[in-house]
Amino acid sequence: MAPAGGGGGFRMPEQREQQQWMEQALSTAKEALENGEVPVGCLMVYQNEILGQGRNEVNETKNATSHAEMVAIGQVLEWCHQKGRDLEEVFGHTVLYVTVEPCIMCAAALRLLNIPLVVYGCQNERFGGCGSVLNIPTDDLQYTGAPFQP
Ligand SMILES: [Zn+2]
Repeated sequence: MAPAGGGGGFRMPEQREQQQWMEQALSTAKEALENGEVPVGCLMVYQNEILGQGRNEVNETKNATSHAEMVAIGQVLEWCHQKGRDLEEVFGHTVLYVTVEPCIMCAAALRLLNIPLVVYGCQNERFGGCGSVLNIPTDDLQYTGAPFQP
């Protein structure tokens, strides 16, 4: 299946590669658990390089939007700033590996950033934004960017 959006040059990672990144996301999730957070961890990988690595920080930061994905997105933004890289180009070729299906808020953010591929570990039946509750990636939504492939 061809990934939606992202422009040219996006290479679909192999299964084995996806598993390796997912294992790393899982160990980040464990760290969240050890710190009294809901255990969600994620990685943002751009051309085999980890640009963002996030875990839930909701309780520590007392910020309900400090989801793993948001933390990682912040790091990628920072990286782009430091390197003077084009955000659209970078996000358009970045894969998100996350242990749990992104919630509706995060899915909408990922869509706005034109992330071409999101690989997630398990479904989130209460808050899932990639099919469980709403389907943010493929639903025809106004003003929320292009669909992405979950
Ligand atoms: Zn979220």
